[in-house]
Order: sequence, then structure tokens, then C-alpha cells
Amino acid sequence: MKTITHWIGGKPVEGTSGRFGPVYDPATGAQDKQVAFATTDEVDDAVAAAKAAFESWGTASLAKRTAVLFKYRELLDARRDEIAALITAEHGKVHSDALGEVARGMEIVELACSIPQLLKGELSTQVSTRVDVSSIRQPLGVVAGITPFNFPAMVPMWMFPVAIACGNTFVLKPSEKDPSASYRLAELASEAGLPDGVLNVVQGDKVAVDRLLEHPDIAAVSFVGSTPIAKYIQMKGIEHGKRVQALGGAKNHMLVLPDADLDFAADQAINAAYGSAGERCMAVSVVVAVGDTGDELVGKIAERAKGLKIGPGTDPASEMGPLITREHRDKVASYVSGAAAQGAEVVVDGTGYSVEGHEDGFFLGVSLLDKVPVAADAYQDEIFGPVLCVVRADTYDDAIKLINGSRWGNGTAIFTRDGGAARRFQLEVQAGMVGVNVPIPVPVGYHSFGGWKDSLFGDHHIYGNDGIAFYTQGKVITTRWPDPADSGGINLGFPSNS
Ligand code: NAD
Repeated sequence: MKTITHWIGGKPVEGTSGRFGPVYDPATGAQDKQVAFATTDEVDDAVAAAKAAFESWGTASLAKRTAVLFKYRELLDARRDEIAALITAEHGKVHSDALGEVARGMEIVELACSIPQLLKGELSTQVSTRVDVSSIRQPLGVVAGITPFNFPAMVPMWMFPVAIACGNTFVLKPSEKDPSASYRLAELASEAGLPDGVLNVVQGDKVAVDRLLEHPDIAAVSFVGSTPIAKYIQMKGIEHGKRVQALGGAKNHMLVLPDADLDFAADQAINAAYGSAGERCMAVSVVVAVGDTGDELVGKIAERAKGLKIGPGTDPASEMGPLITREHRDKVASYVSGAAAQGAEVVVDGTGYSVEGHEDGFFLGVSLLDKVPVAADAYQDEIFGPVLCVVRADTYDDAIKLINGSRWGNGTAIFTRDGGAARRFQLEVQAGMVGVNVPIPVPVGYHSFGGWKDSLFGDHHIYGNDGIAFYTQGKVITTRWPDPADSGGINLGFPSNS
């Protein structure tokens, strides 16, 4: 069985804990790999390597940093297929979707290539006689990232390219469920010329995460994952004096007004609800049908849902792959029967679905639930699977009240031809990312990504300008070059400008 190791100080490290996590091929259900779980000593080794590397990387010229990042971007471009294949093998998503993930991750590397522009400071001359003031931003030191299973390449790339472009060094703790993509990203960074120790990967579980949160040499922690763990990371990180950004779970609503193009809305609902088997934090999991749109819209979504091709991610004909584990698949399926018992109408039932020749794979068909009561678990919980809930609302006002009543506020979208309604929605809805006729409004790399409420804990969104702010600290320098003829003499008063 293949063992996936750590990457510390620019080389593979086997690990000594004797503890391993299973890594499955979700399309077959077979376990053909395991991942080493780090000990606290191994985490300390990674932090020590990063701390040593910071000595020179933290002051490396912008020219040197960007030369590596440009080369890295080229290597990733050449290896898109290979990285996507690693994602499909361990996560299960279809190859085209995995390629999309790699492309969106590369956007952040491209952003990081523009770091000289992004890190430019400010200068005010002659704020007082012969006095100038400049503001600069400097790296924090060693920073850590802890990432979820659902985007094993893209989410790490939301973090480390920006962090290292700013001059920090990085320790990444990827998801233990699909760790190979992160490992390969670190190997390729070395190949691009990133000095040893600037980017390290420690594989593992809570033991590794807790050590990163407690380690005195870690200055900041970026986390992406479920809400309960995000809350835990924020509290524990702050307790240990760290800067923390912790992105959590979601329940993203798509509001459809009666004037919307319902065929377009149905297509987009299908793509956003069932793409990547619903295992996206920006998946649409609730459609709010306003006025009399409900019956027609549900009919159109159901018709499309029944035609989806579900199969192994390696089959180019597959539109949707399996779920991440057998346990998760079964938990998702339980929401469908649970919703029926709690008053929802099951319009399409994907439970019990299996793929010929892949009976042990973690496959689930797609489900569509209509008239889901707000109190039902299927509405209240983040299901994180191919289950779309439809809720009916009489008016726009009822719909926005429902959305704003959700404890999450990651993404949301409105489908309409009415510019006035869309404008109201943008201003009134309580979520961090809003789409107007765009169901998955994941911001481009040069804007920042982040939710509100239980979808993000901390003060900064991730990547874009917020990413630069998160991974740097400000410094303001006040400079005077006195003229010997005008020394000012002794004055114990508070400095004032003149
Ligand atoms: P998860 O919270 O279970 O795991 C995320 C990371 O935390 C992993 O590296 C894991 O090893 C670690 N972890 C898990 N339990 C821990 C514990 N008790 N103590 C310390 N560390 C622990 O999340 P997941 O299942 O891998 O990913 C799916 C979740 O991530 C969903 O809730 C999804 O919405 C969310 N997500 C959010 C975003 C976003 O941008 N807001 C993006 C992607 C995924």
C-alpha cells in the first residue's frame, strides 16, 4: 500500500508516529493508500524548517520571489492534468471539474505573481517641515494553513501563494482524506525554485492541528472547513495569540423571482446543486421559488436531474462522481428519508443508486426535495451532498427574510430580469458573496472570498486584498533629515507638525 508522507524542508519525510489514515478511491471504495499522521515533534520540525527559511525568504527581493512564482505558475500549467488526476483519484470529482479546481487555484498563483504591485506602500512627503511619512507592509513570519477535503488543490492555493509572495513561510496541514494533491503542489514549488522550508506539508489529524495552533512560532492560521471546527480553530488560535481567519460551512440559497428565465434558472440550479456531488461550500443547496414559479421550476429541475450521468470521475461521460466516504454518503442519504418524514415532498430520490461495475463505490444519485419545511433537518443542516431543497415563498420580502434568517452567510444568488430587484437584493442580503444570475459567485483571485455569520470567523476574507492584509503587518516610518542650522533644540512637548 502506498503511504503519503510529509514534505518538510524541501524533502519527503516518512513519519514516525505509526498512525495512518485511510485514503480511498471513492469510485471503487477500495483503500489503496494511507497517509502518515504527524507527531507533535514532526510538526515542530516543519515549523523549525519554516522559521529557518524565513531568515532569508522574508527579506528576499520582490524580483526573486516573483521569479519563483512565475516559474511555479508555468509548472502548474504544464501539470494541470496530473494534479486533476490526483484529485479525482482521492476525492472522486470528475476530471473536468478537477481541472476547473486547478485553474481557479492557479488564479491565486497569478495574483501572487503581481505581488510587487500589491505590496506597494504609501509615502507622504513634507508632513511637517523636512518630515516624510511612509507606510509599508511586512511579512508575519511562519504561517499555517489547514484545509478541507472538498478542494484538495484549490483551497491550499487560496492560502500559500499569497502568504509566501508576501515573504512568509508556510506549513500546510491538508485534509487527511485526499492529501496527495497538496503534497504534489509542494514538490512542484521546490521544482520551481522555492527555497527549502518555505512551503512545508504536514499530514495528519487533530494532533497536528492542535500543535500548529499552540506553537509559539506560528504567527497566523488560515482555516477552511466545517463551521464547528472553524469556531474551534478561531478560539484556540486566539487563545494562543495568533491571527486567525477561519472559513466555515454554508447553506447557499438561490432566489428565483417570477420574471426569471426558468429554463436558465433550472440549468444553473442543477449545475450549482449537483456539481462535485454537492460537496462545494458554494453549492446551491436551497432554491427559494417566489410567487407562482414553484411548480414549473421544480418540474424543469426534476426533468434535468433525472438525466444526469453519474459515474467514476475518470470516465469522460460522467457528469457527477461519488461522495468522499461511505459514511458521508450514508449520512447524506439519511437526509432524504428524514425530510420525507418531516413533511417534504421527495420529487427525485437518488438514494439506493449504484453504478454498474462500481457497486462498492461511494455513489449516490441526486435528490430533489420540494416544499421543505424550514424546521426540517434537510433545511437546517449543511448536507454537503447532491440533495437540493426547494422552499416556496409568496413574495420577495418573504424570501429575503428566510435567507437572512439562516445562520450561514457564505454565497447566495438571485435570478431575475429586474435590475431594481437585483440591486435591492445585493444591498439587503446578509451574505459575503452574491450572484446576480450567477449561481456560484466565487470571486476571481483579485477580489477576496469569504462569508458572513457562521461561514467565516475572523476579520479578513481570503486571497485578494484581504489576503495581502491578513499575511502582512503594517509599519509606519516617520523620517526627518534635520538641517544642522535648524536643530530645533530641546522641547519636551508632544511632537506636533508645523
Ligand atoms: P472539516 O472541518 O471536517 O475538516 C477541515 C480540516 O480540519 C481538515 O484538515 C481536518 O483534518 C481538520 N479537522 C477536522 N476535525 C478536526 C478537529 N476536531 N480538530 C482539529 N482539526 C480538525 O471539513 P471537511 O469535511 O474536510 O470539509 C467540508 C467542510 O468544509 C464543509 O462544511 C464545507 O462547507 C467547508 N468548506 C468551506 C469553504 C469556505 O470557503 N467557506 C470552502 C470549502 C469547504
